[in-house]
Amino acid sequence: MVRGALAAAVTPLRDDGAALDEDAFGPYLDFLAAGGLDGILPLGTTGEGILLSAAERRRAAEIFLEGPLPVIVHAGAQTTAETVALSEHAAASGAAGVAAIGPPYYALDDDAQLAHFAAAARAADPLPFYVYEFKARSGYAVPVRVLERLREEVSNLAGLKVSDRLRPRLGVSGTRRGAGRGRGAPRRPRPLPVPGGGEVRARPPRRTGARRRAGAAAMANGSRETGAGRVARIVVAGAGAIGASVAYHLASLGARDVVIADRQGVAAGATSKAMGGVRQQFSTAAEVRLAQASIRFFEELDAPLFEQVGYLFLATTEDGLAELEERRELQAGLGVPVERVNAAEVEGLYAGDVLGAVNCATDGVADPPAVTRELVRRALKLGVEVREGTPAERLEGDVLVIACGPWSPELAATRGVELPIRPLCRQLIQTTALLDLPEDLPMVLEAETSFHFRRRGDSLVLAMVDPEPRWGFEERVDESLLDDRLARLHHRYPPAREASVDRAWAGLYDMTPDAHPILGEVADGVYAACGFSGHGFMQSPAVGRALAEEILGESPSIDLAPYRLSRFADGAEFPETLIL
Ligand SMILES: Cc1cc2nc3c(=O)[nH]c(=O)nc-3n(C[C@H](O)[C@H](O)[C@H](O)COP(=O)(O)OP(=O)(O)OC[C@H]3O[C@@H](n4cnc5c(N)ncnc54)[C@H](O)[C@@H]3O)c2cc1C
Repeated sequence: MVRGALAAAVTPLRDDGAALDEDAFGPYLDFLAAGGLDGILPLGTTGEGILLSAAERRRAAEIFLEGPLPVIVHAGAQTTAETVALSEHAAASGAAGVAAIGPPYYALDDDAQLAHFAAAARAADPLPFYVYEFKARSGYAVPVRVLERLREEVSNLAGLKVSDRLRPRLGVSGTRRGAGRGRGAPRRPRPLPVPGGGEVRARPPRRTGARRRAGAAAMANGSRETGAGRVARIVVAGAGAIGASVAYHLASLGARDVVIADRQGVAAGATSKAMGGVRQQFSTAAEVRLAQASIRFFEELDAPLFEQVGYLFLATTEDGLAELEERRELQAGLGVPVERVNAAEVEGLYAGDVLGAVNCATDGVADPPAVTRELVRRALKLGVEVREGTPAERLEGDVLVIACGPWSPELAATRGVELPIRPLCRQLIQTTALLDLPEDLPMVLEAETSFHFRRRGDSLVLAMVDPEPRWGFEERVDESLLDDRLARLHHRYPPAREASVDRAWAGLYDMTPDAHPILGEVADGVYAACGFSGHGFMQSPAVGRALAEEILGESPSIDLAPYRLSRFADGAEFPETLIL
């Protein structure tokens, strides 16, 4: 067990926080060791669990362990499975102990916390296992009663329960040996480290007492702030693709007091389940425009976050071909570079039954959770506060943005607003690995059947509309459909004939009556950004920007009028028919 002076170390990152800076670890660890420390607890960067993948975190642990000091590895992650995997890896790699942060990100009650910590502790056994918390940042503590029960359940709980509130009785003053500020390091008031070596502005003390909402938008925008000390706090509820984009764009437009809260974690909802298709080929002008405005943002992200491989629609009937052609004309008229193509020219594709095909070369496929983490990382750098494991209901704010996917009506109801959104269960299938998949394989979609697939690494991901819609919150894979989907793949893409199902998962669409999102103010100071009906990821850049502009009192860069909640009462619906 490590005793004595222990420093909370950060993880060195390079490329603006995008990758581990492996070369920086050595000098950094030597510097810490020279300060006379007895060990380190690498807490990582701000929000390491958000920013680094599990593989990168295992690699970081390994490099820390190569250094001169004993290491208690931080294994806390967004899911129990990942936390357990990181604990096992730490124990097998020679760590001096394993620590997990509380609360676990997805469940808040005592039993769930206990189960999470107990699983991680057993995975670390026989190493000492530590639990720590960031009460001031995450909003609540790990209850002592949970730790008492944990001590009864596992034999290796080492009994550490720390907080990010500095308490004089702990003697933590910032000047102690090994307290994290090295000799010669600059002293600044309350700098918060962020990936890439930048700093988040320390937040000014908040006003106590009632906040005024009036003019909140203008106040939130730094460029319009009129009175010193006037504060408008914007709470973005939900850290999926939409909430992350809204928060990032708010901050990049100058809003100074933005917090994004998710009751689970970053990209924990539909965003982590999505296919990642990014297309401009919709059947209504409004949706085409949203997608067009988003493509520009995706293009800047580039591979591997976004791969511009195109989106190929195939028609196998005369009717299907006529519809495809009608949509192509609408899309091309709006400036989408969608073209008639010869499907037989796509390597490996069976086109014997195809009557016609269209492709838009600027469409493509993306990695939704990775894009969302990237947006959160950028938002953090701009000073946005990120609160995982925190229901938005717990936070005080002047403006609330509801970006909770299918759970949005629940939060809206607490503000007296009824949102016509219903959860619809959909499933995806991933195949076993395939050799020699072309890197430029487009997303392929059969217009009549809705069967579609894309390449993800060395496997394919398949989807199709279910025979009967499955309404409700249950996220369950219907295994009876798997063989049919695989047979369709074997027919359409013969090189995948050897592939079988590797895994399948289900997620929720947040459906509105017309399959268009609900965007804009729905009550005083309450904005909706939800109801994306299965295509929110690809629209998230444009939606996030436009909504941020509107909240800050600017003119939105895209017309949000078609998406108001009031359209349902006014009867002005415009059904999008191309829902996959
Ligand atoms: C199987 C499947 C395939 C899909 N494929 C595509 C695709 O190819 N292309 C595409 O563009 N879209 C696709 N989508 C849709 C896309 O995933 C969503 O539209 C998009 O990710 C929506 O993001 P979101 O941020 O609105 O919601 P989510 O990602 O669901 O995020 C909502 C978040 O809110 C949190 N939350 C809930 N209640 C609260 C609360 N009270 N306080 C704080 N947080 C709260 C949840 O924990 C969750 O993290 C697909 C969806 C599914 C299910």
